[in-house]
Amino acid sequence: MRTRFAPSPTGPLHLGHAYSAILAHDMARRAGGEFVLRIEDIDQSRARSEWEEMIYDDLEWLGLGWSKPVMRQSERTPAYAAALDTLWESDLLYPCSCTRRDIEAALSAPQEGVPVEGPDGPVYPGTCRGRHCGDLPCSMCERPTDIHLRLDMGTTRGYLDKRIDKPDGGTFGLAFLETGPAHRGDVFTSADEYLTRVGDVVLARRDMSTSYHLSVVVDDAAQGITHVVRGEDLFEATRIHVLLQRLLGLPTPVYHHHRLIRDETGKRLAKRDDARAIAKFRADGVTPADIRRMVGLA
Ligand code: GLU
Repeated sequence: MRTRFAPSPTGPLHLGHAYSAILAHDMARRAGGEFVLRIEDIDQSRARSEWEEMIYDDLEWLGLGWSKPVMRQSERTPAYAAALDTLWESDLLYPCSCTRRDIEAALSAPQEGVPVEGPDGPVYPGTCRGRHCGDLPCSMCERPTDIHLRLDMGTTRGYLDKRIDKPDGGTFGLAFLETGPAHRGDVFTSADEYLTRVGDVVLARRDMSTSYHLSVVVDDAAQGITHVVRGEDLFEATRIHVLLQRLLGLPTPVYHHHRLIRDETGKRLAKRDDARAIAKFRADGVTPADIRRMVGLA
């Protein structure tokens, strides 16, 4: 078993992070497995080295040892480009220049009906579907800075349809999606419903050569993660990740979505919740055992 903690260095770790990290760490330790770390710093406009240092300090203080080396996403651009090339060559991506406002306008057109809520907000109406940027592999394509790359659920469906006869017992194809791989309760009536609910998600953002979804899938596979422990706020994102694993031929780990730690008003903790930052508790003389108790793990 190998589990991971994958924080973004964009603010202090708070109680919710501690809970997630402790769960992943303890799960691996109990099974005699490994716990690894990944710094999710693809958004270089928000990531800061001070936050990264603080992550190491906090985890060490919590007593959560991790295996080296630590993976840093900012150093993984070639791996993401290779994954994008694979998808591009199978005709599964298209360039999109829609702004948020364009999407809102398209979705409010009367023929669109009620927008479907996807993991990243309203499902994209497909305005740019069918666009191409020449025959170059996409990582070599001179992508203008206002273009991002979306996954085309139309061609994805055809692609999965073809893959269903592969010698892995059909789990590679559509049948797998219908039974809902993300969670026992996540059952769809058809693979089409699954794909519709995910929608044409962005896999390479205009301001970076990847996206959260693509990076997390490529890196979980590269780090050999067998069990992903993450908050239930990422439950719907897991659907995208499982689909990407199918498309890229990567293994699907076991997913454990845990409850979220909330404040006394019931709101989930956010990065800006400095009052519940681990560093603040440390400064106030709280012990790691107290932290475990506070998140219900003692
Ligand atoms: N880096 C992300 C976060 O801090 C998510 C980790 C994951 O994909 O499980 O929320």
